[in-house]
Order: sequence, then structure tokens, then C-alpha cells
Amino acid sequence: MNRRLRSAILLVLGGVLGLVPVLAANLFMRDYVRSQAEERLMLASERLLKNVEQVVQEAIDVFSTLPHYRVPDCTPDLRQAFLSAQVRHHILHDVGLYNVNTGEMYCTALRGAIQFRAMSKAVTGRVDHLKYQSVYEDMANKRGLLVRWQFSDELAIGGFIPDDHLILNSMPVEYASAASVSVMLSNGPVLVETSPEIRYREMSPFANFEPDPAWTKDMIKTVSRSERYPVMIWAGVPFETVWLTFAGAMDLINGLAILMGAMIIFFFVRLGMKKQSPIFSIEEGIKKREFIPYYQPVVDIQTGRLAGCEVLVRWRKPDGAILSPGSFIDTAEATGLAMPMTTLLMEQVQEDLSEAYANNPTLKAGINLFNRHFDDLSVVGDIERIFTNSGLRFSQLMFEVTERQPLENLDRARAIIARIQKLGAKVALDDAGTGHGGFAYLQKLGMDVIKIDKLFVDAIEPGVETVPIVDSLTQMAKGMDMTVVAEGVENDEQLDYLRKIGVHHAQGYLFAPALPAKAFLGLIDAIGMFGDTKASLQQGDESVMQQVVNV
Ligand code: C2E
Ligand code: CA
Ligand code: CA
Repeated sequence: MNRRLRSAILLVLGGVLGLVPVLAANLFMRDYVRSQAEERLMLASERLLKNVEQVVQEAIDVFSTLPHYRVPDCTPDLRQAFLSAQVRHHILHDVGLYNVNTGEMYCTALRGAIQFRAMSKAVTGRVDHLKYQSVYEDMANKRGLLVRWQFSDELAIGGFIPDDHLILNSMPVEYASAASVSVMLSNGPVLVETSPEIRYREMSPFANFEPDPAWTKDMIKTVSRSERYPVMIWAGVPFETVWLTFAGAMDLINGLAILMGAMIIFFFVRLGMKKQSPIFSIEEGIKKREFIPYYQPVVDIQTGRLAGCEVLVRWRKPDGAILSPGSFIDTAEATGLAMPMTTLLMEQVQEDLSEAYANNPTLKAGINLFNRHFDDLSVVGDIERIFTNSGLRFSQLMFEVTERQPLENLDRARAIIARIQKLGAKVALDDAGTGHGGFAYLQKLGMDVIKIDKLFVDAIEPGVETVPIVDSLTQMAKGMDMTVVAEGVENDEQLDYLRKIGVHHAQGYLFAPALPAKAFLGLIDAIGMFGDTKASLQQGDESVMQQVVNV
């Protein structure tokens, strides 16, 4: 998958995942708030139910203190008993003896002619002779519960509990304004109820009540049933009201969730950017061994024979594209990734060339080092590890040190160079003439080979008699017993000139560009047949020719 696409996917993924904590916190909190509210509502209803049970119990207790009557005989004793019961138990508005069938009141504690209007059918509880009924009492203009003790088909003693004794303001304060509560008989009729609307109408009977749609939309509801009496409590509170009571906590939780989301997004953005960054892709490329050696043939221009090659790194991308070092080598060097890249390259050179070089002991291979390699001895360890017991012998290796950038510590560099030479390998000054090292540099570092930069070889043009810098570099090197290699040789005039002044080796497009391992190994084979490198390149292996022409 392409890197940009992958980064874009990561960014989108980060954005989506970043929302997760916020959504999860809200979803989780809504559930939590709901279950908490249900629990509190249940507790409040049960408190209320207990109160209703106590009130009913009290009414029933009164009956047991009264004498039983088989006839509707309203004696002064009975009236007195009713009166004292009513006074002692203020929850009872009235106690009276009446005819169940006609509703006729024979006598009551207070009013004598009290009338109840039935609002529902009577229900029987656990005890047969006790009946419960929702009634309306005209005189007091009140609804309530009529508990009656029926002791014959006709006669009953009834106790009326008005609604205001049945309901308590037992709702949690924070829900109280929006809670609805009903005390009901088990067969459905409401004994008393309260709701925001009812409370509002009580307070302002003539004002218009506008119910909040949220109050009915999503209600948290509970029902508690009495085990002793046929009564139950229905309670409800709008979810929104409860949710609002958590607003402070939610702000905090949302804040934390947003922070977490932002951290996730930040993480993915970083990852996305990292995936796009050249450093990351070079790192990945090294891991996947995408950096491979190409080999540019180096020719002995005095004999025409192949002298060896220079190893030049190429980045083979997964899509098959081959990148030249110009596009990545500076980043690799600046980040230190050039070190593992060189190690990887040397390992592959060892694998590629081992066999062919074992069969052709005069061939050399030049490997480019970076200035950082001269900071410590690790490169020596790597060279030793990779090439010990290899078909490619130390004496066939040459390590190139560029003059373009100055070496930081010449003494240390000298020591490292000496260690490389002690293994049997050669060391070359690359890009000679371009830097400021000059003669002193060469002397101090104890180089074996000097590579004249393409810049100076380019100066050898048709009609030019002498190129002083090429001449003097060559003379100086030969005076110090060094091998001279010319880089970037592109035409026969340059080749003739260099050969004439005694340059030993040359590389350049005149012979071949850097070749893939297979092509370079093919060339070595072809040379076995023709002897002359240039001739081999011109007459030899088709595939080699193809490579040469293509690049
Ligand atoms: P260099 O070490 O001076 O390598 C020679 C460069 O000149 C190579 O470029 C090569 O392909 C190019 N070249 C060779 N003959 C001709 C020619 O006739 N005409 C022209 N125009 N160019 C020619 P390349 O491979 O792009 O490498 C560029 C530079 O990158 C190298 O310059 C070297 O400094 C660095 N480099 C390449 N591979 C490595 C490596 O494995 N390690 C290190 N440390 N540096 C490397
Ligand atoms: Ca080089
Ligand atoms: Ca060079």
C-alpha cells in the first residue's frame, strides 16, 4: 500500500478512535446514571410504600377496638367509640357504620350523613373481610382510601383515609420537581398521585401549564408492591432531569475523555507522520533489506582487464523502482542510518561476489564508507565479522573515504584506517581534489589508492592539451606509490589522456554504469572468454549489454 494512503488511513483511524473515549464515557455514564436513578427511585418508593402500609395498618387496628354489630343500631356507645377512634387516629377522617349495598350511613364519628362516592371496585387483600376501595368523599371534597371491615353481607365499618395521608414527599430532592408518583390499588385505580403538572396546578390554578416534552419522553420508572395490602406505588422521573444532576460530573468525565481522545488522535497523527517521514521509510527499508549493492566495473586501463568494481548502493522499492543514492544518502548519513545500511550492504556484497571473486583473485571491490565510520572501531569489527572465511578476501577489498567532507579527528581516523589495512584491505581517498585535505591528508592517513573526481576528468575535453590538476594529482599519487583511479570516464579522449599520463584504473559510463549483481557477475564470466573488458562489454553477454544501454 502506498505510504500516503497508509498515513491518510492512520489519520482517519486516529480521528475515529479519538472519538471512542468520548462516546464510551457518555454511553457508559448514561447507563450508569440510569441504574443509579432506578435504585434511588426504588428506595424512595419503598419508603413511601412503608408509610402507606403503616397508615392502612393503623386504620385496621382501629376496627379491632370497636364492638361488632349485627344490626344497624347506632347506639350512643358506638358513636362514642367511633369518635374516640377518630380522635386518637388522626389519619382517619371518619369512621362509620354503613350499609354496603345502599351506601346508607347509619352513624359516623363526626358528620352523621357523610357520603362516599365509589371511584373503583373494592379489592380484597389477604384477609377476606377487609376491603379496599378508592372513594371520593363529598363533604370534605377529598379522594382517598376507604378501608372497610365487612362483618355481614350488609353491614361494614369503614375508615376513610384522605389522600394527603397517603403520599409523602419522599422523592430525592434533586428529582422532586420532575418526579411523578402514584399510590394505587392493586387492581389499578389511583388513590393519590402527584406529578409536575398537578403540583403546578395546585400552586397556580389559573395559569397555563406547558409540560416539558422531556418529562414524558424517556422516563425512568419503578413499581413497588406491598406484600401486606393490595396497594402499590408507581414512581417515575424523566431521564433528562436525572442526567442534569450529573452535569458537573459529566463535564469532568467528558473533559477527561476529550483529553484521552486528543491523545489517541495525537498518537495516530504522529504515527502517520512518522510513516511519511523519510527517516522512518529508510529504517523500514533497512529492515526489509531494500538497500542493495550495484556494481560499477573498474577497468585497468593499461591492460584493458577488469580490475574490479565499486559498490554503489541502490534502494529497490517494493514497487520495483530503483532509487539512486542522491535521493536518500544525505538523510541516511544525517540520521546515522547510514551505519546499518553499510553493514547490510557489505553482507550482500559478500554473498554476491564471494564465489566469483574466489575464482578471480585479482579482482577488487571498492566499498564507500561514511565519515561517521571513523568515529569508532565498530566498522572494523563489522568488516572482520562479514569477510572472515569468505571467498571474498580482505586483500580484495578497498574502502573509500571521501575528501568532500573533512574527517573530524584525523588521529582516530588514521588508527581506524591502519586497523583496516592490517586486515589486508586497501583504503582509497575518494573524490580526490574536491576537498581541503590535499597532500597532508594523504600523507597523514596513509592511503593506498587515490580516486580522481569526475569533475577533473570532465575537464579533459577534445583539443585540450593538458589538464594540470589531473596531471599533478596523478604524479603526486605515483610519487607516493599509490594506485590512481579516474572516475566518470565517458569518452575515448578521456581514456587516452588518462592512459597516457599513467593513470592505472578507470570507471565510467564509457565502460559501464553501476550494474545489478547478476549483470556484473555475467560480465566477469564474459571477461573470462574475451580477456579485454571493453571488448567484453561490446561483444559479450547480451544481458550485460542490455543493462549498459538501459541505464
Ligand atoms: P561516488 O562514490 O563518487 O560514486 C560514483 C558516482 O558516480 C556513482 O553515483 C556513479 O554511478 C556515478 N558515475 C560513475 N561513472 C559515471 C560517469 O561516467 N558519468 C556520470 N555522470 N556518473 C558516473 P551514484 O551511484 O549515484 O552515487 C553517488 C554517490 O553516493 C557516490 O559517489 C557516493 O559518494 C555515494 N554512495 C553511493 N553508494 C554509497 C555507499 O554504499 N556508501 C557510501 N558511503 N556512499 C555511497
Ligand atoms: Ca566512491
Ligand atoms: Ca567518487
